[in-house]
Formats: sequence, C-alpha cells, structure tokens
Amino acid sequence: MSLLRLASGCAACLLTVTSLAAEPLGEAALAEARILRERALADDTAYELTRSLTTEVGPRLAGSPGDARAVAWSVEKLKALGFSNVRAEPVTVPRWIRGEARAEITAPWPQTLAVAALGGSIATPAEGIEAEVVPVTTLDELKAQPRERIAGRIVFFTARMGRSRDGSGYGTTVPPRGSGAAEAAKLGAVAMVMRPAGTSTSRTPHTGAQRYADGMPPIPAFALSNPDADMLEQQLASGQPVRLKLSNTSRWDGEAQSANVIGEIPGRSHKDEVIVLGAHLDSWDLGTGAHDDATGVGIITAAAKLIAESKPRPKRTIRVVFYANEEFGLSGAKAYAANYQDAIDQHVLGLESDLGAFRPYGLTARVAPDKLPLVRTIQSVLEPLGVAYLGTEASGGADVGQLRPLGMPVMDLKTDAEPYFDLHHTANDTFDKVDPLLVRQNVAAFAVIAYLAAEAEGGFGRLPVASKTAP
Ligand SMILES: [Zn+2]
Repeated sequence: MSLLRLASGCAACLLTVTSLAAEPLGEAALAEARILRERALADDTAYELTRSLTTEVGPRLAGSPGDARAVAWSVEKLKALGFSNVRAEPVTVPRWIRGEARAEITAPWPQTLAVAALGGSIATPAEGIEAEVVPVTTLDELKAQPRERIAGRIVFFTARMGRSRDGSGYGTTVPPRGSGAAEAAKLGAVAMVMRPAGTSTSRTPHTGAQRYADGMPPIPAFALSNPDADMLEQQLASGQPVRLKLSNTSRWDGEAQSANVIGEIPGRSHKDEVIVLGAHLDSWDLGTGAHDDATGVGIITAAAKLIAESKPRPKRTIRVVFYANEEFGLSGAKAYAANYQDAIDQHVLGLESDLGAFRPYGLTARVAPDKLPLVRTIQSVLEPLGVAYLGTEASGGADVGQLRPLGMPVMDLKTDAEPYFDLHHTANDTFDKVDPLLVRQNVAAFAVIAYLAAEAEGGFGRLPVASKTAP
C-alpha cells in the first residue's frame, strides 16, 4: 500500500503504516512534529527577532556599518538562545555606497520623479546627464535597435511586473535590471532608467543589483517608482520628445569583511549530519529589510530553537546559516559552498526562508525520487497550515540552492509572493508590514520540516552532481 495515498487520506491508516519498522518516520516522531507545529503557532520568538534586527540594526547593505552590526547582533542572539558552535565565518564582500539620486523630466512638461540608483550604479558627472528618452520593453527589443536610435539617449525599460502568488512576474522584469545598463551602453546610451522590478503603487522605487559588461564604459542606472514610470509613459504618449535630467553620486569603495553567521542545535545521535536552514543577513538600504530578509532570519532561528526544546531532540543537527551579501552577488552562499564542499555528503537537506513572512500554501521537494513518499509524510503534518504538496520543482533558494548542484536535496516552502513584491527592495520594507500570525505560520512549517528531516531514517538520497565547468 502506498504511503503516498495514505498521506493525503486517513490518519488512522497512516498511524498503522508508519509504525512499521520500514518507515523512515515512526508515529512518535510525527506526534512530536504535530506538537512542535502547535507550539510554533503560539510562539513569537521570530517576530521578536525581526523587531530587534530591524529596530536595533536597521538597514544592513553588505560592507556597510549596519552589516557589521548585524553580524555582531547575530552572534549575540544565537548564543543567548542557546545555540551551539556559534561562529562568524569571514566573507569578503564588495562595498557600494548609494549617495543621492535625482531625476526630473525637463521637457515637454517639467516634473520631478521618484528614483533610486540601482545597486552598483556609477555616478553621473556633477552637473548631471540630460538627454532624450527612448522607451523599450525588453532586452531583446533594445538589442534589435539601430545604434543611431539609442546613442546619446537615455534608455527607459517599460515592462511592468505582474502580480501573482508565485512571484513569477519578478523573473521577467529582473533581466533588464541586471544587464539593461550594460546592453544600453553597448549601443551608446548615456544612462538607463527602468520601471521597477516590483509591484508597489507607492512612489517608492524598488532598487536591486545590476552589473556592467566587461570592457564597456559603464553608464548610470536607475529604477523609478511605478507611478513615476507611468508619468514618463504619459509624457511619451504625447508623441513629443521627452527629455530627462538625471544625477547620482553613488560610488564603489573597494571590499569589506562581512561574515556568514552559523549556529547549531546538535542532533542526539547523528551529529555530523546537518539540516541547513538558510536566510540572508544583509539587506538593501532603502528600508530596514524587514521582509527581506529579517523575517527569514527570525523564522529559521525560532524554528531551530523550538526544535531544541522538543523531546527527544531529532537525530541530526539543525544548522542555521545567516548568509552574507545575498543581494549583491551571493558572496556568503559561494563562500559556504566552497568551505563545506568536502562535507557536502553530510548535508542531508536544505531549505531557505527568503520570501518574507506571508501565507504558506505549498511544499515542493527536489529529493531522490524514491524519497518522495517521505516528503508526502512530512507534508501531511503541514496540511492544517494549508500547505499542499506541489511537486518536485524546488530550487532551495538563492543561497541554500548553491548547494543543490553539489548533490544536496532541497525543499521550498511556497508562500504568498504577491504582497512581498509590493515591498521588496523599497523604503517600505519595514517592521510595521510584518504580521505576527503569518510569522508564526512560517515558523511552524519550517520547524515541522526541519524536525522530521532531522529525524527521518535514511534521509533524502542525493541529487545528481552538476559537472564543474572550467572557469
Ligand atoms: Zn532576500
């Protein structure tokens, strides 16, 4: 009889079947996981950590003084909460200083626009840059333009991010953000502005990382807010030439030392085998990084802390990793993957919280195919939280996912991305937007998954190891 069918059906049958010795999880473990879930739903440790990180540290862009304070904060909190092997493992990060950005339409109808430099943008000359605006929707449309239409002008990417529960619109608006300035520079543009990769209807631009192409002179790069992008489009719709004046004082300032902060709840028997729970410690600088990713730090920490209080503790170790510099090049995730490459086979499963603290609705799992029944058993304990099994397309997230090509299985807790992308990388990503009840639901899901993963006999198998490409 397939456990797969049972997991979605009768609880009494599940009890009978899972008590058999061959099952990876016994009834005692499932009962403890249900208790853990209910304890998490009455616990505000994660909410309190989110309050503390956003209030006492605030913005923590990689390499900034806030980033250094966040590392110290993390070590102190993990020790105070009773974690073992608490350490800050050094990570070198790039340092970029935002400065001030301004944008105004100078013709046909002068207006001031809300704007933010994209991460990594260079400054404009002190007197600013003034030029005519050329709208394009996509990178491909830009690449198809004759040079004479782009050269000497400001390229404006107009594509609007759609709202959806799975956040899929983000994937389509990120490419112009990441390389729009680089591509525009190749055709001789003097600057790039974009409708933001985000859905806020406030006059709050969504910032984010962008990169220049090697060997091309860089040009300044900016995100408008959505209402300001509308304004620019309205003026363009008049058919008259629209001119924009941009100024910016951002600069690069070498490198800085940051750290991945790690803490553990040691397993009761298989101490060397770890379940990795990840979140990133850095944030963009416009808000206080409440949902991106202070809640993630709070959620994984609280889940591990609750597991430490379970009886008995699970067999394997729960390791929380607060990654350095996710936003600006995954420095911490790459350092962790390099540092722990030789111990990768002891990494039994990884999952990450980096989509804010919104309503959980699904679980995906990329594990060895013969371990999918175990995933369904774990999901059955999440059912009262409204978490459905949604298949095998799990990524592990930006940071933890770096371990997937090395063979580590991953799961993703799917949460409602629609409200998240109203706040993402904006000045509005602040603590008042955090709902304690939704934080608790996320903690409950993470605690159940991590506890059962740490307890399950035999683990989740291994994923195919991606062959290394030559540098
Ligand atoms: Zn994030």
